[in-house]
Amino acid sequence: MKPSPFDYLAPGDLDEALGALAEHEGEAKVLAGGQSLVPAMNFRLATPSVLVDLNRIEGLAEVRVGDGELVIQSLVRHRDLEIPATEDATALLLARVSRLVGHLPIRVRGTVAGSLAHADPAAEWCMLAVALDATIVARSVRGTRRIAANEFFEGLFTTALAEDEIITEVRLPLLGNAGTGFREKSQTAGDFATVATIAACTLDDGIVADARLAIAGAGATPVRANRAESLLVAREATPDAIAVASRAAAEDVEPSSDASTSADYRRHLVEVLARRALDDALEAAS
Ligand SMILES: Cc1cc2nc3c(=O)[nH]c(=O)nc-3n(C[C@H](O)[C@H](O)[C@H](O)COP(=O)(O)OP(=O)(O)OC[C@H]3O[C@@H](n4cnc5c(N)ncnc54)[C@H](O)[C@@H]3O)c2cc1C
Repeated sequence: MKPSPFDYLAPGDLDEALGALAEHEGEAKVLAGGQSLVPAMNFRLATPSVLVDLNRIEGLAEVRVGDGELVIQSLVRHRDLEIPATEDATALLLARVSRLVGHLPIRVRGTVAGSLAHADPAAEWCMLAVALDATIVARSVRGTRRIAANEFFEGLFTTALAEDEIITEVRLPLLGNAGTGFREKSQTAGDFATVATIAACTLDDGIVADARLAIAGAGATPVRANRAESLLVAREATPDAIAVASRAAAEDVEPSSDASTSADYRRHLVEVLARRALDDALEAAS
């Protein structure tokens, strides 16, 4: 199918883009990599009458490290993260995650900020933002606000972003020398994950000091497995402890069935992939 008619704007700076969104509020959409928006427009699932293309704006494509954070600007493409910006565990994890987002042409165009704004429940970047307690910086003509990842994803393809806001930065805490794990199962290579998990852990003398576990593909939004995390912290990282935590993670998700995957199978995948991600993270942390 073809998209419904729209006006195309290519502002030269961010203020102009924000002004255009304010002027056409409710009618306009930001265009970043176009890898989700353009297919949605072609299927007429999205029918904006104005597209505000960010791609001509200079100075929006930087990845930088500072103040204990890794900062990803609006036009950083998935592929830009394949080479870690630093040796910190956060950047190394991003490099592993980026390689499993879609296929190469999608990674070359698609952006991290666009992925968060789109909020697909199986998207790796959304899960990573929740796992690491990212901060999403959003600007509009009304000012700048910082949104915590755990308040950003409100439901299926729904976020806390207002229609006139642009994500200018995604800020991720540096994890230092934490161990991390990332596992996913998809139907075929390059597909969205059926279920995916990210774990990040630190150990103190063999005892788990900090544990993070996030899950995608088992509910309307990515979630943290809070009970699983607390079952691990202050305990020895034994295979039994990891198995108990992974089972808790699977018990606590609320997956639904669709044409290809039953809720029971998704729950099973959560348990298996949580255990594998935690195994990897705890081994790397030791
Ligand atoms: C075949 C295929 C396979 C894919 N596989 C995967 C996968 O395995 N994992 C995965 O995570 N993704 C996958 N994707 C999606 C891909 O990652 C997209 O790039 C991403 O979801 C959206 O980023 P984008 O820059 O292309 O955004 P766009 O398509 O340009 O925009 C998407 C939405 O976000 C809004 N938006 C974009 N940027 C901003 C911003 N800075 N501020 C506010 N709103 C903004 C747009 O208005 C639009 O509503 C796949 C896509 C395709 C076509």
